[in-house]
Amino acid sequence: MTIAIVGAGLGGLTLARVLHVNGIDAVVYERESSRDARGQGGMLDIHSGQRALRDAGLIDRFFAIARGEGQDMRLLEPDGTLLLQEDTPDDAPLSRPEVDRADLRDLLLDSLPEGTVRWGHAFSSAEDGVLRFADGRTAAYDLLVGADGAQSRVRALLTDARPAHIGQNTVEVGIPDIDRTHPDLAAMVGRGNYWVLGGGISLGAQRNGDGRVRVGLSFYHTDEDWFATSGIPFDDPAAARARLIDLLDGWDPRFTALIAACDDTVVRRSIATLPAGLTWPSAPDVTLIGDAAHLMPPTGEGANMALLDGALLALALAAHPDDHPTAIEEYEREMFERAGAAARMCADMHELLSSPDAARKLLAFFQPG
Ligand SMILES: Cc1cc2nc3c(=O)[nH]c(=O)nc-3n(C[C@H](O)[C@H](O)[C@H](O)COP(=O)(O)OP(=O)(O)OC[C@H]3O[C@@H](n4cnc5c(N)ncnc54)[C@H](O)[C@@H]3O)c2cc1C
Repeated sequence: MTIAIVGAGLGGLTLARVLHVNGIDAVVYERESSRDARGQGGMLDIHSGQRALRDAGLIDRFFAIARGEGQDMRLLEPDGTLLLQEDTPDDAPLSRPEVDRADLRDLLLDSLPEGTVRWGHAFSSAEDGVLRFADGRTAAYDLLVGADGAQSRVRALLTDARPAHIGQNTVEVGIPDIDRTHPDLAAMVGRGNYWVLGGGISLGAQRNGDGRVRVGLSFYHTDEDWFATSGIPFDDPAAARARLIDLLDGWDPRFTALIAACDDTVVRRSIATLPAGLTWPSAPDVTLIGDAAHLMPPTGEGANMALLDGALLALALAAHPDDHPTAIEEYEREMFERAGAAARMCADMHELLSSPDAARKLLAFFQPG
């Protein structure tokens, strides 16, 4: 039985690893040419997904690369009012540590037998047990797992659902080596998450493992074509920073100083999601995991769900080694319920973050009563 996994992201690699731990081989086809072909982005908050890393036999190595102090939180309003400051004690449990996405992906990649991941294979279609790649190559499969992320091509084999824009557009900038270059701003942001929320805008600053602080500015209630109409000149980073500062009209100068200190890397993300609670009729030889199955607002659940999907599908296949259709049904039944609940929670958090008094609402969420 040949198990073909499309996509070497967190979900696909976890699936391959937990299958391997259970004595089952799989091949992962990844369109990137190598593990370093593309930057892997910033930090991930890993909580429920820790169970998958246990199933993968990697939890100790995960704790060795996770940052407990990344759980620190500062919450402010645009006028500079500090609403919440939580510093993680040194002996606090690692219940929601932050981990560098590249480090987590490397941990999973290094845990797989040589040759499991076939780099430079961009999936384009599948029919009658044959996968076709963009360059014309083909490969046989008995079971196909789409782990190919938000813009999944495998998804179309199971459902017509497509991601839809949710009125959020995000611009990511960052300050390299902040302790040396801007110690005052480093002290302000602290060791973990720094949030300024209000008026339909959020500023999230977060310290990464390499000393860079990533700053994400999200503009809510904005259209899909907002990047074109926002007046942000993305081809001129200095002018783009100036425009972002203009858009933070009335915000405390400490926050705009954070933007002014950023370097020339300016990334845009248009935020889209699949419908919360998406399901499809089970097929005997194809299924989806991770963002391909349930793309949700980026509020800290997606990576955890992808890890869990990979581990739980692998365990279902190990429990029914000669009966893939039953394994898929068992996996999908649990996944639809778990991911649906997570997607609804993320949608509620997205609504909260987009409200005019988001900081006060988030404070009430953290400190009910
Ligand atoms: C800014 C940001 C911050 C986030 N922070 C968090 C967080 O703190 N906590 C959290 O839980 N989640 C977070 N998420 C969500 C999380 O990153 C995703 O949910 C998670 O990475 C999904 O994993 P995946 O394996 O499904 O997909 P991905 O990690 O996207 O991997 C998909 C892989 O498939 C490959 N691929 C795509 N198309 C093809 C093709 N045609 N052929 C072959 N390969 C292909 C891609 O190159 C990629 O390697 C965040 C997301 C964003 C955007």
